[in-house]
Amino acid sequence: MKKIVILGSTGSIGRNALSAVKKLGPGYQVLGLAANSNLEGLLAQARRFHPRYVSVFDYTASVRVKGLLPRGVKLLDAGVEGLSEMASLKDADIVLNAVTGAVGFAPLVAAIRASKHIALANKEPMVMAGPALMKEAARWQAKLIPVDSEPSAIFQCLAGVKDGNYNAAVSKIFLTASGGPFYARKSGLSNVTVKEALNHPRWNMGPKITVDSATLMNKGLEAIEISSLFAVPLDKIQVLIHPQSVMHSGVEFCDGSVLAQLSWPDMRLPIQYALTWPERRCSLVPPLDFFKLSRLDFAKPDFKKFPCLELAFHAAKKGGGYPAVLNAANETAVEKFLKGMVRFTDIAEIVGKTLSLHHENKPDAITLAEAVEIDGWARQKAADIAANIKRGKKCLHP
Ligand code: NDP
Ligand code: MG
Repeated sequence: MKKIVILGSTGSIGRNALSAVKKLGPGYQVLGLAANSNLEGLLAQARRFHPRYVSVFDYTASVRVKGLLPRGVKLLDAGVEGLSEMASLKDADIVLNAVTGAVGFAPLVAAIRASKHIALANKEPMVMAGPALMKEAARWQAKLIPVDSEPSAIFQCLAGVKDGNYNAAVSKIFLTASGGPFYARKSGLSNVTVKEALNHPRWNMGPKITVDSATLMNKGLEAIEISSLFAVPLDKIQVLIHPQSVMHSGVEFCDGSVLAQLSWPDMRLPIQYALTWPERRCSLVPPLDFFKLSRLDFAKPDFKKFPCLELAFHAAKKGGGYPAVLNAANETAVEKFLKGMVRFTDIAEIVGKTLSLHHENKPDAITLAEAVEIDGWARQKAADIAANIKRGKKCLHP
Protein backbone atom coordinates (compact mmCIF):
# COMPACT_ATOMS: atom_id res chain seq x y z
CA MET A 1 0.00 0.00 0.00
CA LYS A 2 1.46 3.40 -1.06
CA LYS A 3 0.42 6.29 1.15
CA ILE A 4 0.26 9.65 -0.62
CA VAL A 5 0.33 13.21 0.63
CA ILE A 6 -0.90 15.92 -1.76
CA LEU A 7 0.20 19.51 -1.17
CA GLY A 8 -2.14 21.73 -3.19
CA SER A 9 -4.91 19.12 -3.47
CA THR A 10 -7.62 21.62 -4.45
CA GLY A 11 -5.67 22.95 -7.45
CA SER A 12 -5.57 21.76 -11.04
CA ILE A 13 -2.75 19.25 -10.47
CA GLY A 14 -4.13 18.21 -7.07
CA ARG A 15 -7.58 17.43 -8.46
CA ASN A 16 -6.15 15.50 -11.42
CA ALA A 17 -3.91 13.59 -9.00
CA LEU A 18 -6.91 12.55 -6.95
CA SER A 19 -8.68 11.24 -10.03
CA ALA A 20 -5.51 9.30 -10.91
CA VAL A 21 -5.37 7.89 -7.37
CA LYS A 22 -9.01 6.83 -7.64
CA LYS A 23 -8.25 5.04 -10.91
CA LEU A 24 -5.15 3.36 -9.43
CA GLY A 25 -7.37 1.64 -6.87
CA PRO A 26 -6.61 -0.20 -3.66
CA GLY A 27 -2.79 -0.08 -3.80
CA TYR A 28 -2.80 3.69 -3.27
CA GLN A 29 -4.20 5.56 -0.30
CA VAL A 30 -4.47 9.29 0.44
CA LEU A 31 -2.73 10.01 3.74
CA GLY A 32 -2.79 13.82 3.74
CA LEU A 33 -4.29 16.77 1.87
CA ALA A 34 -3.15 20.39 2.04
CA ALA A 35 -4.68 23.54 0.57
CA ASN A 36 -4.50 27.27 1.10
CA SER A 37 -8.03 28.51 1.74
CA ASN A 38 -10.49 26.57 -0.42
CA LEU A 39 -12.35 24.88 2.43
CA GLU A 40 -15.30 23.73 0.36
CA GLY A 41 -13.02 21.87 -2.05
CA LEU A 42 -10.83 20.47 0.70
CA LEU A 43 -13.76 19.24 2.79
CA ALA A 44 -15.33 17.50 -0.21
CA GLN A 45 -12.00 15.78 -0.86
CA ALA A 46 -11.64 14.82 2.81
CA ARG A 47 -15.11 13.22 2.79
CA ARG A 48 -14.33 11.35 -0.44
CA PHE A 49 -10.75 10.17 0.27
CA HIS A 50 -10.67 9.88 4.10
CA PRO A 51 -7.15 11.26 4.67
CA ARG A 52 -5.66 10.96 8.15
CA TYR A 53 -4.26 14.53 8.01
CA VAL A 54 -5.20 17.85 6.46
CA SER A 55 -3.54 21.26 6.61
CA VAL A 56 -4.88 24.65 5.65
CA PHE A 57 -2.24 27.29 5.03
CA ASP A 58 -4.40 30.38 5.51
CA TYR A 59 -4.69 31.01 9.25
CA THR A 60 -8.31 32.26 9.29
CA ALA A 61 -9.47 29.39 7.08
CA SER A 62 -7.57 26.93 9.26
CA VAL A 63 -9.43 28.15 12.36
CA ARG A 64 -12.76 27.87 10.50
CA VAL A 65 -12.16 24.33 9.25
CA LYS A 66 -11.62 22.91 12.74
CA GLY A 67 -15.22 22.01 13.51
CA LEU A 68 -16.04 20.97 9.96
CA LEU A 69 -13.67 18.07 9.36
CA PRO A 70 -14.94 14.48 9.23
CA ARG A 71 -14.22 12.43 12.38
CA GLY A 72 -10.75 11.01 12.68
CA VAL A 73 -9.09 13.63 10.44
CA LYS A 74 -6.26 15.47 12.20
CA LEU A 75 -5.70 19.14 11.38
CA LEU A 76 -2.04 20.15 11.24
CA ASP A 77 -0.79 23.70 11.89
CA ALA A 78 -1.57 26.53 9.49
CA GLY A 79 1.18 28.19 7.47
CA VAL A 80 4.39 26.73 6.24
CA GLU A 81 4.88 24.66 9.43
CA GLY A 82 1.81 22.55 8.65
CA LEU A 83 2.83 22.17 4.99
CA SER A 84 6.33 21.07 5.98
CA GLU A 85 5.04 18.65 8.63
CA MET A 86 2.68 17.20 6.03
CA ALA A 87 5.57 16.83 3.55
CA SER A 88 7.63 14.83 6.03
CA LEU A 89 5.01 12.60 7.71
CA LYS A 90 6.67 9.39 8.77
CA ASP A 91 3.99 7.22 7.17
CA ALA A 92 4.04 8.99 3.80
CA ASP A 93 5.58 7.03 0.92
CA ILE A 94 4.92 9.63 -1.80
CA VAL A 95 4.67 13.41 -1.49
CA LEU A 96 3.10 15.25 -4.41
CA ASN A 97 4.16 18.89 -4.24
CA ALA A 98 1.54 20.77 -6.28
CA VAL A 99 1.29 24.14 -4.55
CA THR A 100 1.98 27.21 -6.62
CA GLY A 101 5.11 29.31 -6.21
CA ALA A 102 7.95 29.66 -3.75
CA VAL A 103 5.69 28.66 -0.85
CA GLY A 104 6.50 25.10 -1.93
CA PHE A 105 10.21 25.58 -1.15
CA ALA A 106 10.19 24.74 2.59
CA PRO A 107 7.92 21.69 2.24
CA LEU A 108 10.08 20.45 -0.63
CA VAL A 109 13.18 20.70 1.55
CA ALA A 110 11.27 18.93 4.35
CA ALA A 111 10.24 16.09 2.02
CA ILE A 112 13.81 15.76 0.73
CA ARG A 113 15.22 15.58 4.26
CA ALA A 114 12.65 12.91 5.08
CA SER A 115 14.00 10.90 2.08
CA LYS A 116 10.63 10.76 0.34
CA HIS A 117 9.61 9.77 -3.17
CA ILE A 118 8.62 13.26 -4.33
CA ALA A 119 6.31 13.81 -7.28
CA LEU A 120 7.26 17.36 -8.21
CA ALA A 121 4.88 19.70 -10.01
CA ASN A 122 5.86 22.86 -8.13
CA LYS A 123 8.70 24.09 -10.35
CA GLU A 124 9.41 27.45 -8.69
CA PRO A 125 11.68 26.06 -5.90
CA MET A 126 13.77 24.28 -8.53
CA VAL A 127 14.23 27.60 -10.31
CA MET A 128 15.24 29.28 -7.07
CA ALA A 129 17.86 26.74 -6.04
CA GLY A 130 17.89 23.69 -8.32
CA PRO A 131 21.55 22.70 -7.84
CA ALA A 132 21.34 22.98 -4.02
CA LEU A 133 18.08 21.01 -3.94
CA MET A 134 19.55 18.24 -6.13
CA LYS A 135 22.57 18.07 -3.83
CA GLU A 136 20.29 17.81 -0.83
CA ALA A 137 18.21 15.11 -2.54
CA ALA A 138 21.35 13.07 -3.26
CA ARG A 139 22.47 13.46 0.35
CA TRP A 140 19.14 12.23 1.74
CA GLN A 141 18.49 9.71 -1.05
CA ALA A 142 15.19 11.39 -1.88
CA LYS A 143 13.76 10.75 -5.35
CA LEU A 144 12.53 13.73 -7.37
CA ILE A 145 10.12 12.53 -10.05
CA PRO A 146 8.86 15.28 -12.37
CA VAL A 147 5.11 15.75 -12.84
CA ASP A 148 5.16 18.60 -15.34
CA SER A 149 4.52 17.11 -18.79
CA GLU A 150 7.79 18.27 -20.41
CA PRO A 151 10.21 17.31 -17.61
CA SER A 152 8.26 14.04 -17.29
CA ALA A 153 8.70 13.38 -21.02
CA ILE A 154 12.45 14.00 -20.75
CA PHE A 155 12.67 11.84 -17.62
CA GLN A 156 10.92 9.03 -19.51
CA CYS A 157 13.26 9.41 -22.53
CA LEU A 158 16.30 9.28 -20.26
CA ALA A 159 15.19 6.14 -18.44
CA GLY A 160 17.72 3.89 -20.17
CA VAL A 161 20.82 6.03 -19.65
CA LYS A 162 23.46 4.08 -17.73
CA ASP A 163 24.35 5.36 -14.24
CA GLY A 164 22.25 8.47 -14.75
CA ASN A 165 25.14 10.13 -16.60
CA TYR A 166 22.83 12.16 -18.80
CA ASN A 167 25.22 14.86 -19.91
CA ALA A 168 27.62 12.40 -21.57
CA ALA A 169 24.79 10.63 -23.43
CA VAL A 170 22.66 13.63 -24.40
CA SER A 171 23.51 16.08 -27.16
CA LYS A 172 20.25 18.04 -27.12
CA ILE A 173 17.00 18.33 -25.25
CA PHE A 174 13.96 19.40 -27.24
CA LEU A 175 11.74 21.27 -24.80
CA THR A 176 8.34 21.79 -26.41
CA ALA A 177 5.92 24.65 -25.76
CA SER A 178 2.39 25.13 -27.06
CA GLY A 179 3.17 28.83 -27.51
CA GLY A 180 0.21 29.87 -25.35
CA PRO A 181 -2.75 32.00 -26.46
CA PHE A 182 -0.72 34.78 -28.12
CA TYR A 183 1.83 32.96 -30.21
CA ALA A 184 0.12 33.62 -33.53
CA ARG A 185 -1.28 37.03 -32.55
CA LYS A 186 -0.13 39.74 -34.91
CA SER A 187 -1.06 42.83 -32.87
CA GLY A 188 0.96 43.96 -29.83
CA LEU A 189 0.42 42.46 -26.40
CA SER A 190 0.20 45.58 -24.22
CA ASN A 191 -3.60 45.56 -24.18
CA VAL A 192 -3.99 41.90 -23.35
CA THR A 193 -6.69 41.39 -20.70
CA VAL A 194 -6.52 38.98 -17.78
CA LYS A 195 -9.35 36.98 -19.35
CA GLU A 196 -7.43 36.62 -22.63
CA ALA A 197 -4.24 35.62 -20.84
CA LEU A 198 -6.13 32.95 -18.88
CA ASN A 199 -7.59 31.42 -22.03
CA HIS A 200 -4.95 28.79 -22.78
CA PRO A 201 -5.51 26.89 -26.04
CA ARG A 202 -4.42 23.45 -24.79
CA TRP A 203 -4.17 23.12 -21.01
CA ASN A 204 -6.57 23.89 -18.18
CA MET A 205 -4.29 25.00 -15.34
CA GLY A 206 -4.13 27.33 -12.34
CA PRO A 207 -3.96 31.09 -13.04
CA LYS A 208 -0.27 31.65 -12.27
CA ILE A 209 1.09 28.98 -14.61
CA THR A 210 -1.47 29.96 -17.27
CA VAL A 211 -0.13 33.53 -17.32
CA ASP A 212 3.44 32.13 -17.35
CA SER A 213 2.45 30.09 -20.40
CA ALA A 214 1.10 33.20 -22.12
CA THR A 215 4.35 35.15 -21.53
CA LEU A 216 6.44 32.01 -22.26
CA MET A 217 8.14 32.54 -18.89
CA ASN A 218 6.88 29.05 -18.10
CA LYS A 219 9.23 27.61 -20.74
CA GLY A 220 12.13 29.54 -19.29
CA LEU A 221 11.31 28.25 -15.80
CA GLU A 222 11.12 24.72 -17.18
CA ALA A 223 14.48 25.07 -18.96
CA ILE A 224 16.09 26.12 -15.66
CA GLU A 225 14.36 23.28 -13.80
CA ILE A 226 15.37 20.69 -16.39
CA SER A 227 18.96 21.80 -16.45
CA SER A 228 19.17 21.10 -12.68
CA LEU A 229 17.02 17.97 -12.62
CA PHE A 230 19.11 16.21 -15.24
CA ALA A 231 22.43 18.05 -14.77
CA VAL A 232 22.45 19.06 -18.42
CA PRO A 233 23.89 22.47 -19.43
CA LEU A 234 21.45 25.10 -20.60
CA ASP A 235 23.01 25.38 -24.06
CA LYS A 236 21.85 21.82 -24.81
CA ILE A 237 18.22 22.81 -24.28
CA GLN A 238 16.34 23.90 -27.39
CA VAL A 239 12.84 25.30 -27.05
CA LEU A 240 10.46 24.22 -29.83
CA ILE A 241 7.08 25.80 -30.34
CA HIS A 242 4.73 22.89 -30.95
CA PRO A 243 1.12 24.13 -30.96
CA GLN A 244 -0.54 20.68 -30.86
CA SER A 245 1.09 19.76 -27.50
CA VAL A 246 1.30 16.11 -28.45
CA MET A 247 5.06 15.68 -28.32
CA HIS A 248 5.76 16.60 -24.71
CA SER A 249 9.53 16.90 -25.25
CA GLY A 250 12.37 14.78 -26.54
CA VAL A 251 16.03 13.96 -26.24
CA GLU A 252 18.69 13.71 -28.93
CA PHE A 253 21.46 11.33 -27.92
CA CYS A 254 25.11 11.59 -28.96
CA ASP A 255 24.62 8.87 -31.59
CA GLY A 256 21.96 11.00 -33.32
CA SER A 257 18.91 9.04 -32.10
CA VAL A 258 15.99 11.12 -30.94
CA LEU A 259 13.53 9.75 -28.38
CA ALA A 260 10.37 11.66 -27.63
CA GLN A 261 7.28 11.06 -25.51
CA LEU A 262 3.90 11.60 -27.16
CA SER A 263 0.33 11.49 -25.85
CA TRP A 264 -2.82 13.60 -25.90
CA PRO A 265 -2.32 16.69 -23.71
CA ASP A 266 -3.72 15.44 -20.40
CA MET A 267 -1.91 15.95 -17.09
CA ARG A 268 -3.36 12.79 -15.58
CA LEU A 269 -0.76 10.77 -17.49
CA PRO A 270 2.46 12.40 -16.20
CA ILE A 271 0.92 12.79 -12.71
CA GLN A 272 0.13 9.09 -12.58
CA TYR A 273 3.57 8.12 -13.89
CA ALA A 274 5.20 10.20 -11.14
CA LEU A 275 3.10 8.34 -8.57
CA THR A 276 3.61 4.81 -9.93
CA TRP A 277 7.23 5.20 -11.10
CA PRO A 278 9.15 3.05 -11.87
CA GLU A 279 6.04 1.05 -12.77
CA ARG A 280 3.61 1.90 -15.57
CA ARG A 281 -0.10 1.39 -15.03
CA CYS A 282 -3.19 1.81 -17.23
CA SER A 283 -4.36 5.41 -17.08
CA LEU A 284 -7.51 7.42 -17.70
CA VAL A 285 -5.94 9.04 -20.75
CA PRO A 286 -7.14 7.61 -24.09
CA PRO A 287 -4.36 6.25 -26.31
CA LEU A 288 -2.99 8.44 -29.06
CA ASP A 289 -4.60 7.89 -32.47
CA PHE A 290 -2.09 8.76 -35.20
CA PHE A 291 -4.81 8.82 -37.84
CA LYS A 292 -6.60 11.60 -35.98
CA LEU A 293 -3.42 13.69 -35.81
CA SER A 294 -3.37 15.49 -39.11
CA ARG A 295 0.01 17.14 -38.45
CA LEU A 296 2.64 18.03 -35.88
CA ASP A 297 4.18 21.49 -36.29
CA PHE A 298 7.42 22.85 -34.86
CA ALA A 299 8.77 26.41 -34.93
CA LYS A 300 11.50 28.51 -33.37
CA PRO A 301 10.43 30.62 -30.39
CA ASP A 302 10.21 34.38 -30.87
CA PHE A 303 12.38 35.79 -28.09
CA LYS A 304 11.62 39.38 -29.12
CA LYS A 305 7.88 39.05 -28.87
CA PHE A 306 8.20 37.07 -25.62
CA PRO A 307 10.94 38.84 -23.64
CA CYS A 308 10.23 36.75 -20.52
CA LEU A 309 11.73 33.73 -22.28
CA GLU A 310 14.83 35.75 -23.09
CA LEU A 311 15.06 36.99 -19.48
CA ALA A 312 14.82 33.45 -18.14
CA PHE A 313 17.68 32.24 -20.34
CA HIS A 314 19.68 35.34 -19.43
CA ALA A 315 19.18 34.68 -15.68
CA ALA A 316 19.98 31.00 -16.11
CA LYS A 317 23.23 31.77 -17.95
CA LYS A 318 24.30 34.20 -15.23
CA GLY A 319 23.58 31.51 -12.62
CA GLY A 320 24.04 32.03 -8.88
CA GLY A 321 21.08 33.88 -7.39
CA TYR A 322 19.81 35.29 -10.71
CA PRO A 323 17.23 32.53 -11.33
CA ALA A 324 15.87 33.10 -7.78
CA VAL A 325 15.52 36.82 -8.57
CA LEU A 326 13.80 35.98 -11.86
CA ASN A 327 11.33 33.69 -10.13
CA ALA A 328 10.45 36.05 -7.28
CA ALA A 329 10.06 39.05 -9.59
CA ASN A 330 7.89 37.00 -11.94
CA GLU A 331 5.64 35.71 -9.14
CA THR A 332 5.19 39.28 -7.91
CA ALA A 333 4.52 40.68 -11.38
CA VAL A 334 2.04 37.94 -12.32
CA GLU A 335 0.13 38.44 -9.08
CA LYS A 336 -0.14 42.18 -9.84
CA PHE A 337 -1.23 41.48 -13.41
CA LEU A 338 -3.94 39.08 -12.20
CA LYS A 339 -5.20 41.80 -9.85
CA GLY A 340 -5.34 44.28 -12.75
CA MET A 341 -2.59 46.44 -11.25
CA VAL A 342 -0.08 46.19 -14.12
CA ARG A 343 -0.28 45.38 -17.80
CA PHE A 344 0.66 42.07 -19.43
CA THR A 345 3.77 43.62 -20.97
CA ASP A 346 4.77 45.11 -17.60
CA ILE A 347 5.52 41.58 -16.36
CA ALA A 348 8.69 41.43 -18.47
CA GLU A 349 9.57 45.01 -17.54
CA ILE A 350 9.29 44.28 -13.81
CA VAL A 351 11.32 41.08 -14.10
CA GLY A 352 14.00 42.74 -16.26
CA LYS A 353 14.36 45.73 -13.95
CA THR A 354 14.53 43.57 -10.83
CA LEU A 355 17.23 41.40 -12.42
CA SER A 356 19.23 44.51 -13.31
CA LEU A 357 19.29 45.53 -9.62
CA HIS A 358 20.86 42.24 -8.55
CA HIS A 359 24.65 42.08 -8.60
CA GLU A 360 26.89 39.11 -8.02
CA ASN A 361 30.54 39.22 -8.95
CA LYS A 362 31.16 35.52 -9.34
CA PRO A 363 27.87 33.70 -9.50
CA ASP A 364 28.25 30.29 -7.89
CA ALA A 365 25.62 27.76 -6.91
CA ILE A 366 23.73 29.37 -4.03
CA THR A 367 22.74 27.66 -0.80
CA LEU A 368 19.15 26.97 0.24
CA ALA A 369 19.32 29.76 2.83
CA GLU A 370 20.69 32.24 0.27
CA ALA A 371 17.86 31.36 -2.12
CA VAL A 372 15.27 32.24 0.53
CA GLU A 373 17.03 35.51 1.31
CA ILE A 374 17.33 36.52 -2.35
CA ASP A 375 13.68 35.60 -2.90
CA GLY A 376 12.57 38.02 -0.16
CA TRP A 377 14.80 40.82 -1.48
CA ALA A 378 13.62 40.41 -5.08
CA ARG A 379 9.93 40.38 -4.12
CA GLN A 380 10.34 43.72 -2.37
CA LYS A 381 12.22 45.27 -5.32
CA ALA A 382 9.71 43.93 -7.84
CA ALA A 383 6.79 45.30 -5.80
CA ASP A 384 8.46 48.75 -5.71
CA ILE A 385 9.03 48.66 -9.47
CA ALA A 386 5.40 47.60 -10.06
CA ALA A 387 4.16 50.46 -7.84
CA ASN A 388 6.20 52.94 -9.89
CA ILE A 389 4.84 51.55 -13.15
CA LYS A 390 1.32 51.83 -11.79
CA ARG A 391 1.86 55.44 -10.73
CA GLY A 392 3.13 56.29 -14.21
CA LYS A 393 0.06 54.97 -16.04
CA LYS A 394 -3.54 56.07 -15.72
CA CYS A 395 -5.60 53.24 -17.13
CA LEU A 396 -4.44 49.73 -16.34
CA HIS A 397 -7.68 47.99 -17.19
CA PRO A 398 -7.73 47.71 -20.96
P1 NDP B 1 -3.57 25.94 -8.91
O1 NDP B 1 -3.60 27.40 -8.72
O2 NDP B 1 -4.65 25.31 -9.70
O3 NDP B 1 -3.57 25.23 -7.47
C1 NDP B 1 -2.66 25.58 -6.47
C2 NDP B 1 -2.89 24.69 -5.28
O4 NDP B 1 -1.97 25.08 -4.26
C3 NDP B 1 -4.29 24.87 -4.65
O5 NDP B 1 -4.63 23.65 -4.01
C4 NDP B 1 -4.06 25.95 -3.61
O6 NDP B 1 -4.99 25.92 -2.53
C5 NDP B 1 -2.69 25.52 -3.13
N1 NDP B 1 -1.94 26.62 -2.53
C6 NDP B 1 -1.67 27.83 -3.06
N2 NDP B 1 -0.98 28.55 -2.19
C7 NDP B 1 -0.81 27.77 -1.11
C8 NDP B 1 -0.22 27.96 0.13
N3 NDP B 1 0.36 29.13 0.46
N4 NDP B 1 -0.22 26.92 1.01
C9 NDP B 1 -0.82 25.76 0.71
N5 NDP B 1 -1.42 25.53 -0.44
C10 NDP B 1 -1.41 26.52 -1.32
O7 NDP B 1 -2.15 25.57 -9.50
P2 NDP B 1 -1.74 24.38 -10.46
O8 NDP B 1 -2.29 23.09 -9.94
O9 NDP B 1 -2.02 24.75 -11.87
O10 NDP B 1 -0.16 24.39 -10.32
C11 NDP B 1 0.50 23.91 -9.17
C12 NDP B 1 1.99 23.80 -9.44
O11 NDP B 1 2.19 22.83 -10.45
C13 NDP B 1 2.63 25.10 -9.96
O12 NDP B 1 3.92 25.24 -9.47
C14 NDP B 1 2.68 24.89 -11.48
O13 NDP B 1 3.75 25.57 -12.09
C15 NDP B 1 2.89 23.38 -11.56
N6 NDP B 1 2.38 22.79 -12.80
C16 NDP B 1 1.04 22.82 -13.08
C17 NDP B 1 0.55 22.25 -14.25
C18 NDP B 1 -0.91 22.19 -14.54
O14 NDP B 1 -1.31 21.53 -15.49
N7 NDP B 1 -1.77 22.82 -13.77
C19 NDP B 1 1.46 21.67 -15.24
C20 NDP B 1 2.83 21.66 -14.81
C21 NDP B 1 3.26 22.21 -13.65
P3 NDP B 1 -6.40 26.74 -2.60
O15 NDP B 1 -7.22 26.02 -3.63
O16 NDP B 1 -6.94 26.62 -1.24
O17 NDP B 1 -6.04 28.14 -3.00
MG1 MG C 1 4.95 22.17 -18.62
